[in-house]
Formats: sequence, structure tokens, C-alpha cells
Amino acid sequence: MLVGREFTILGAGISGLALARALAMHGARVTVLEQSPELGEVGAGIQISPNGMKVLDALGLGTELAATSPRLKAVELLNGETGEPVTRLDMAMRRPNAPYYFVRRPELIALLAGGARDAGVEIRLDQRIAAVEITDDGPVLTFEGGATSRPGTVLGADGLHSKLRGALNGEAKPFFTNQVAWRAMVPMPRAEPPVARVFMGAKKHIVSYPLSNGMRNIVAVEERSRWAEEGWHIRDDAMTLRVAFEEFCPEVRGWLEQVEEPYLWGLFRHPVARRWFGPNCAILGDAAHPTLPFLAQGANMALEDAWILAQALALHGEDEVGFAAYQTARRERSSEIVEAANKNARNYHLSGLPRVVGHLGMRALSKFAPDL
Ligand code: FAD
Repeated sequence: MLVGREFTILGAGISGLALARALAMHGARVTVLEQSPELGEVGAGIQISPNGMKVLDALGLGTELAATSPRLKAVELLNGETGEPVTRLDMAMRRPNAPYYFVRRPELIALLAGGARDAGVEIRLDQRIAAVEITDDGPVLTFEGGATSRPGTVLGADGLHSKLRGALNGEAKPFFTNQVAWRAMVPMPRAEPPVARVFMGAKKHIVSYPLSNGMRNIVAVEERSRWAEEGWHIRDDAMTLRVAFEEFCPEVRGWLEQVEEPYLWGLFRHPVARRWFGPNCAILGDAAHPTLPFLAQGANMALEDAWILAQALALHGEDEVGFAAYQTARRERSSEIVEAANKNARNYHLSGLPRVVGHLGMRALSKFAPDL
């Protein structure tokens, strides 16, 4: 048990807040340090798959999420230019007991933050960590402005550009995948069935699904050599997005006409961290294993990490044994998912003969793969 034990978590994102509640449920005293002045201001959609839902249920938050979010019925793959269906996977029929939801990220963050605060967690905003140094006694944090602190056990849920990951593993060398993703939300004139639709073209695809607030979430991915930065807050010109998909069918072009100022995200491949823990510290979520978004598993893996890390520390102790049990339970699984996401882009972006063959293959697979 962790009753009265103290933990400091860096980052009030998905993994940090889930971990905070999970530790507090074991009786721990938890403080979360978040750089932003407010929580969850990024308005993107996120897909929560059955594995993520299991964690939310274990945290006692699944029912609330299910009550407010559209539950996915099917995934449709379509030809981007013609809009003709290639195949459809009916999730409700194939996996009736494994619900899958479309969620707005700010709603998920608000749910997790409420759950953490209800369990006694303190969330401190505007606390940007500028540097982390690992000593034999644990991490020393330097805040922006120069103040330092040695808070005992520190858990790094500080995302893609994690300071704790850097301190444990040295400088990572991500490389640009020659792919960019635009994200946008546009109004839906009328309610649509909760279906994820993937319009596939040569070297590009668009994913669309409905959100609870009457908006359509769009993620548009294009292969290109021009470099783009990696992050949630970078804006782009809507015309660039429209031109990139000008050969797509009228339905898709109609959505893109409504986009005012999309966010642009350069897609990079990062190695999975070699070391997930050190003296009095560990990393989780994107800090440990950033992934491309082509399996929609980044947030779901972040939730899995949070739950397993809290259980490992409660079971084995908050020392090397507990941290090693966590890394052993998580590293191989996350590496496999990251690799599967790397491969998925290729399946969506076929052209010429491979595309004809690939689409026929997808059709056949959907008939014989009852668990997809
Ligand atoms: P984050 O949620 O990024 O949280 C990190 C937190 O740490 C942030 O609040 C940040 O402000 C804070 N922080 C960072 N640095 C510091 C610092 N120095 N000091 C203090 N605080 C700091 N995943 C899915 O599962 N399903 C999807 O449908 C999906 N769609 C996606 C679409 C796109 C286009 C992209 C790019 C990603 C998508 N993901 C999806 C991935 C998912 O968003 C991430 O994997 C997930 O947010 C990781 O959670 P995390 O807690 O590790 O990091």
C-alpha cells in the first residue's frame, strides 16, 4: 500500500492525471505540476478504445465518459477520390462487450482532473520545469525562473518533449517521417451515426468522426518532404490543407471548405525510451513511447501505463523493484504497438496496382477477421 507516500507527477495530461488518481486510490499524497496556465485547452478529438476504457472503468470514471461520448458503431474505409466504400468493420456486432468511444480531449482531461481532485490530488498550474537532473537520491527539478526543488519520487508524464526522459536517456534523435497531420473540427449540420470514416488516397488519407458537441473531428495526413514542427499548438493556412486534398470527393472537399485555421503537426518517429526509470523516478505515456497516430493508441497506452505503474508500486514498493516490474510489464507491449502504428500509414497510402490489390485484400480481411 502507498498510504501517506508522497509523489510528484510532471504533466497534467492524460497519463499524469490518470496516474495521480490511481496512486491516490492507494492512499498516496500526490502533487501534479503542469506548465500550462489552464488544463486541456487543446480541442482535438481522441478515440478511446476498449483497453483505455478498461482503465477508465478501473478508475471509476468510465460510466461518466460513456454517458457523454458517442460510442463507435463501425469503421469504414473508403476510396478518397470517388468516395466509394472499400470495406466496413462493424464493431458493435463484432465486439459488443468492448465499447469504443469518440471523446473531446478537453472533456477527457476535465474528467481525469475532476477524478484526481476528488481523490485528494493537488494540481498546480503554471509550473514549467526547465530542467531535470538525476542524482543518487532522485531528481532535482529546476523551474522556469530558476527555483529548484528535490521533491522525492518524481513520475514524468510530461509528454513528447519530456525533461525527465532526456535526463534518463540523453538526447533522443527523432526523425521526420515526411508526413504531416492537420487537425480541425467543423460543424456537422445534422447528427451522424458514430462511424469512423477513413478516406484513402495516394500518399494521403483523412479520418473523420463525430464528437459529442455537434462537431466533426478531422485528421488529414499527407506525405510530403517539407518539414513541419511537432506540437499541439501550431496553426496552418486552411488553403494549404484544401489544396492538398483537392482531388478528393465532394463530401470531403465540403468539410475542408469549412475549416478556418487548422492545426498542423509534423509526424516524427521517436525511439521507445531505453530506460524508463532511475533513482526515485520513472516515465510514462508519450514520455516513454511517443507513437505515430495511425492506430489511435497514444492516449490509450498512456492510460494503460498509468494504471500498471500505480499497481506495480503498490504491489512491489516504490523502489527499483516496483519500477522494474512496471517497465517489464509495459516496454514490449508499447514497442509492438508503436511499430504497428508505423506500418499502418503505408496501408492507407497505396497507389497504382498495389492500391487495387490492397483494397481487395482489406475487403477479404474484413470478412475473415472477426476481432478487428
Ligand atoms: P500529454 O497528454 O501530451 O500530456 C503531457 C502534459 O505535460 C501536458 O499537459 C504538458 O503541458 C505537460 N508538460 C510538458 N512539458 C512540461 C514541462 N516542462 N513542465 C510541466 N509540464 C509539462 N491517442 C489516442 O489514444 N487516440 C487518438 O485518437 C489519438 N489521436 C491523435 C491525433 C493526433 C494528430 C496526434 C498528434 C496524437 C493523437 N493521439 C491519440 C496521441 C495522444 O494524444 C497522446 O499519445 C497522449 O496525449 C499522450 O498522453 P501523455 O499524458 O503522455 O502526454
